[in-house]
Amino acid sequence: MERKVKELIDRLEKNHTLDTAEYAVLIRERTPETAGYLARKADALRRSIYGNSIYIRGLIEISSCCKNNCLYCGIRRGNRECERYRLTPEQILECCAQGYALGFRTFVLQGGEDPGFSDELVCQTVRAIRNRFPDCAVTLSLGEKSPKIYRLYHEAGAERYLLRHETADPVHYRKLHPREMSWAHRMDCLHVLRKTGFQVGCGFMVGSPFQTAECLAADLKFLEEFQPEMCGIGPFIPHHGTPFREYPAGTPELTVYLLSLIRLILPGVLLPATTALGTIAPDGREQGILAGANVIMPNLSPASVRKKYELYDNKLCTGDESAQNCASLRRRMEKIGYEIVTGRGDPAV
Ligand code: SAM
Repeated sequence: MERKVKELIDRLEKNHTLDTAEYAVLIRERTPETAGYLARKADALRRSIYGNSIYIRGLIEISSCCKNNCLYCGIRRGNRECERYRLTPEQILECCAQGYALGFRTFVLQGGEDPGFSDELVCQTVRAIRNRFPDCAVTLSLGEKSPKIYRLYHEAGAERYLLRHETADPVHYRKLHPREMSWAHRMDCLHVLRKTGFQVGCGFMVGSPFQTAECLAADLKFLEEFQPEMCGIGPFIPHHGTPFREYPAGTPELTVYLLSLIRLILPGVLLPATTALGTIAPDGREQGILAGANVIMPNLSPASVRKKYELYDNKLCTGDESAQNCASLRRRMEKIGYEIVTGRGDPAV
């Protein structure tokens, strides 16, 4: 079986495509040895395109208010314990100014779906950032909006949008979300974002409740077909204030394995070693980078609100997670042979 898995990895490296059933075999039949074999190929492919450069993005969590009730998420509407906050445009600009001084040239504005943060205010904020820091890219991650709103965001100067598809399997989606949310709508948003002209990021949690190897295989096939410019994956981690509080977390091992597979499917993709991976394993960032990831997103939110954007228990937000500690992160990356670079970090074409 090991030989069969290695053959599939070789074929994926060469053609960047497999059948969904073959992806499921790669996931189900993996061993530490095949994982090492795969990681070395993913690392080599990433180096052939991006060298040893690691891009950094400053993550600003602009609102913990959310109208949605996703069963896994700590800032879901139904979590009464969650402390809600909403940053002002001035606070967001101040975060960007700090980030700029630290060398960040991409700012990611992420938040719950917060009707109190009006679309006009989002546009105003994006315009202000682009005016003040014209050499920086603005990425938005604010959930599902109408085509018109995505267009306004784009016209305001946002060039990238992250919207994890969460799962490519509609039956699995139903188990993770309440009735009023729609898998078809989320997938449709990704296509609208692409048509609007954004660089688009999708992605999913690893080890979310009810996820099977077949669900993950469908996720990989979806990535192969959709060809996103960015892809964010991280382990599911339970939050004590959600219906999924008792479910086990996803593993770093499977997350890292999937990062390598994604690198072989999408050679030029911008692929972060996520906060969730850093939370679940002390060397999660390093493991992710060594397996083919090439982006890190340190936290640039004001220190006073960081604990409040708690998507899952014990989410990292201080120490090397903090943008202010970029020098330490730089040293950690150098230790494993990579270099954090300053720049917008657009995808290689
Ligand atoms: N509201 C926006 C959206 O829906 O895309 C962006 C914010 S949302 C909180 C960002 C991502 O956090 C989600 O796409 C989800 O994959 C991830 N997330 C939420 N709860 C999580 C958990 N318990 N463990 C790991 N990741 C989680």
